[in-house]
Amino acid sequence: MSIKVVTIVGARPQFIKAAAVSRVVRDDYAGKIDEVIVHTGQHYDANMSRVFFEELDIPEPGYNLEISGGQHGAMTGRMLEAVEKVLLAEKPDWVLIYGDTNSTLAGALAAAKLHIPVAHVEAGLRSFNMRMPEEINRILSDRISTLLFCPTETAVRNLQAEGILKGVHNAGDVMYDVALFYRDRARQQSSILGDLKLESHGFALATCHRAENTDDPQRLGQILSALAEIASQCPVVFPLHPRTRKLIGDYGLSRLLGKLVVTEPLNFLDMVALEQAAHFILTDSGGVQKEAFFYGVPCLTMRDETEWVETVELGGNRLVGASSSAIVDAVAEIMSGQPADAAASPYGTGKAAFKILSHLA
Ligand code: UDP
Repeated sequence: MSIKVVTIVGARPQFIKAAAVSRVVRDDYAGKIDEVIVHTGQHYDANMSRVFFEELDIPEPGYNLEISGGQHGAMTGRMLEAVEKVLLAEKPDWVLIYGDTNSTLAGALAAAKLHIPVAHVEAGLRSFNMRMPEEINRILSDRISTLLFCPTETAVRNLQAEGILKGVHNAGDVMYDVALFYRDRARQQSSILGDLKLESHGFALATCHRAENTDDPQRLGQILSALAEIASQCPVVFPLHPRTRKLIGDYGLSRLLGKLVVTEPLNFLDMVALEQAAHFILTDSGGVQKEAFFYGVPCLTMRDETEWVETVELGGNRLVGASSSAIVDAVAEIMSGQPADAAASPYGTGKAAFKILSHLA
């Protein structure tokens, strides 16, 4: 007899993580696990959503709730109501949630109230900054999850410190599974270096979308000034998140984009190809910090803290905050630093999806 799993996704990083797990469902658990995907609609632009389903071979969602925009509370509330209806109709054995978005919390809460067990992939991550919407979503989702799949030992310890001991497994990081699967494919199939006329290791790659940076005109201005200054030394490729693009316009900061190689959000293979070929990476993204680490590319994280402390401890990543001078100074330093100790492999063996599904099944 097969078990039914409803997977809740809504945002770009969740599509990428879910791709790793759905592939193993299809390849190794056909007839044993029946997966129904629910797309909340949180990210809806084609280049933030559809492109990932096509490129990463993610099964078509059974439901698209088309819920996006508005304040966090309103968005989460609408998702909660809509996910509950889906769960009442589907009656799954498990609800599978990923990461730390409003879709994660809405899925966890809807399931827990219906006494459907929740499995959380990427459990136990903490920034210890309760002003981050992601931190609130993580803590609450973990508290009501039955199975907690941690990507690292640090995450396991974070849960222990909160008294959460039952159902906790260090499965490794599904993003590492993804990196191993797409690393060579991206290099072979992407033509982005030629399209943007870039030389391998002759450019920097930058991303910025965290609310703590984009919702503060001061911080966003400092970050863009730093990128503009770095761009006078080497090309800086800046795939622009739609929210960041809108806020740059609202704050009147568009002139700071003039020297950058600004692109629309990239498809995954192009992004991974650029990451591997970059001289260094500047980011506030959780996923991009780790991908830099996996590919051995020096990374500066434009935040005051990180959930992925191993990347910093092992020398591949540095927290530089959002001051323009600190970012520019750190570029010089990271270039002369040692490469990260990748042999330490704190993110598992690339079999996280398999481990997660073996527990579920
Ligand atoms: N990504 C992408 N195209 C882009 C920017 C990012 O495919 O233009 C990928 C990136 O490689 C990583 C993931 O999106 O796998 C990270 O998502 P994001 O930065 O939106 O969220 P976070 O990881 O911070 O939650």
